[in-house]
Amino acid sequence: METKDIKAFGSEAAEAPLKTLDIKRRAVQAHDVEIEILYCGICHSDLHSARNEWHGTMYPIVPGHEIVGRVTKVGDHVKNFKVGQLAGVGCMVDSCRECDYCKNDLEQYCDEGNILTFNSPDKHLGGHTFGGYSQSIVVDENYVLHISDKLDLAGVAPLLCAGITTYSPLKHWKVGPGQKVGIVGIGGLGHMGIKLAKAMGAHVVVFTTSVSKFEAAKELGADEVVLSTDPEQMAKHAKSLNFILDCVSAEHNIDSYLNLLKVDGTLTLVGAPMEPLPVTSFSLLLGRRSFAGSAIGGIAETQEMLDFCAEHNITADIEIIGVNEVNDAYERLLKGDIKYRFVIDMASLK
Ligand SMILES: [Zn+2]
Ligand SMILES: [Zn+2]
Repeated sequence: METKDIKAFGSEAAEAPLKTLDIKRRAVQAHDVEIEILYCGICHSDLHSARNEWHGTMYPIVPGHEIVGRVTKVGDHVKNFKVGQLAGVGCMVDSCRECDYCKNDLEQYCDEGNILTFNSPDKHLGGHTFGGYSQSIVVDENYVLHISDKLDLAGVAPLLCAGITTYSPLKHWKVGPGQKVGIVGIGGLGHMGIKLAKAMGAHVVVFTTSVSKFEAAKELGADEVVLSTDPEQMAKHAKSLNFILDCVSAEHNIDSYLNLLKVDGTLTLVGAPMEPLPVTSFSLLLGRRSFAGSAIGGIAETQEMLDFCAEHNITADIEIIGVNEVNDAYERLLKGDIKYRFVIDMASLK
C-alpha cells in the first residue's frame, strides 16, 4: 500500500521523553478522509500510554485522541465529508462493524475490540496506529466527526475524549431537569461533566477535596460546591442525589458518595483509579443503588455530543501549548497544574 511520510511527536521507550518522529500514514483509500491536524488535546491516557503505565504500549508511540483539523483529501466513495471542512477524530478509528454493539452505535464496546486511535493494531499498514500528535491522519469516514465552525476550534478538541466520556453516562442515566446530580472531581473530565450536566438542565453539586476550587466550580456552572473531606457538608446531601458522575482517578471513598444517592440512584465511574475501590454492601442494598462504569461513547453519540455543545456554546477550558512543551505539560498534568486541558497547536510541529 502506498504511504505518505509525515512528522509526529512521540516516544521510543517508556522512560524516554517525547520528541519529533517520522511516521507513515496510508494513502487515502476509497472510504478514507485525510485530515490536516490543527489541534490535539492531551488526555491523561496519553501520558499513561507513553510511559507504559497500563502495560502493552507498542513503541514508538504517538499519543493523541482529541483531534480536530481540516479535511485535505477524501476517497472516491466518501459521502459525508468534503475537502476544506472541519473534522474531528476521537478515541477510535475503526471497529468490527458486525457485532451487536457495532450495529447499535456502541462501537466503544465492540466484541472484537475496537481499533483505538493510537497503540492498536493497524490493519492497513501492519504495525500499530499512531495518534493525533502529528501533522495529519487518515481515517475511514464512518469514524470521523463533523465539527461546527461556530466554536473555538482548540477548545473543541478535548470534547472528542473528555466531552464524550462525560456526556455518554449523563445521557444513558437520563440526567435532566428536576434532578440533583453530583460531579466528583474538577479536572479534565469533571469540568466537562459540570458544563454538560448544567446544560442538560440538572441541579449540579460539585464535590472537591480543595476549598481553593470552590470559585472555579461555580464559574463552570455548579449550583453547589461541597468539600468532600468535611463530613458535615457531606451529611447535608445524604440520600438526595439522583446520579453521581465520579471523575476521580485517584483512590477515594466510594461509600461516602453512594450514601448520598436516593433510592435507585447510580454512581458511575469515568475516572480510572489503578487500585480496586472497596464498596460496602449496605451502601448498595439500602437504597437499591447501582455502582457502574462507562467508557467514552459511540460515533453517533459523539456526533450528538458535538452538536449539543455547538448548540449550547460549550467548549473545554484549555491552555494552548506547542509540541516542545508537551513533556513539561505531562509533569504539570501529574501535579494537577492545569485548568483544565492542554491542547497542542499542531502548527508548532515542524
Ligand atoms: Zn482520552
Ligand atoms: Zn464490533
